[in-house]
Amino acid sequence: MAKYFHLTGRALVLIGFIVGLYGCAPAVSPSQAGHGQSLKRDALGHRPGPRGFTTVLIDAGHGGKDTGALGHGHTEKLLAQEAAELLKKKLKGKFKVVMVRKNDRFVDLDDRVAKANRYNSAILVSLHYNSSRSSYVRGPETYYWRVDSYSLARRIQWNMEKVAGGRHSSRGLERRRLRLTRNPKIPCVLVEFGYLSNRREAHAINSASYRDRLVSAVASAIITQQAQGDAGTGRLPRPITKPLSRASDPPGS
Ligand SMILES: [Zn+2]
Repeated sequence: MAKYFHLTGRALVLIGFIVGLYGCAPAVSPSQAGHGQSLKRDALGHRPGPRGFTTVLIDAGHGGKDTGALGHGHTEKLLAQEAAELLKKKLKGKFKVVMVRKNDRFVDLDDRVAKANRYNSAILVSLHYNSSRSSYVRGPETYYWRVDSYSLARRIQWNMEKVAGGRHSSRGLERRRLRLTRNPKIPCVLVEFGYLSNRREAHAINSASYRDRLVSAVASAIITQQAQGDAGTGRLPRPITKPLSRASDPPGS
């Protein structure tokens, strides 16, 4: 996934600040909307995070001709598909689970968004492994854009940090306007389990048990989010109003 985005976190913060100064809707607090309201589809996501949702759309990143990242013998599209199948098993019986990509085939990002937009009372979780030109970069990351996706992303990242060995092994939570974090009308997050380009992390990813624990971290965050909504995840971020993300956008815009 990393190859699409080259803007630094600092530049993104600056953009967010500028947009926040000019033309943002007022900040949303968890008490401002009931849970029923938070479950309806919404184009901007300027609302509290979901609680009581019934459906989880699982998106295995890449597929078919799009291999995703390659590194130290790993292929992202295959790891993402494995993670999606594992997550489906872990959520079975608790949610209606919809697989966005069922097998190793190419699905355009806009078609993934269109599929997500067919569901109400649902969230979308897109699963990826990462790559960097720097072999030193490592650790799980979670991306979100919408206000209503923050607490789920926060929980996923907290849980993955524990699996990966603590805060210093983690890249943290990132607010990024991507096609799968900005465009769906339901809460949506994009998970990067780790860097295939980092030798140490790629070695950890060799272990099926390690990969399974990362997926369990995501499953348990989803279950907690469904039960508790935003409770315990701190202040919600400021709403930022920006257009849909397009394939033709410059990287990181
Ligand atoms: Zn990816």
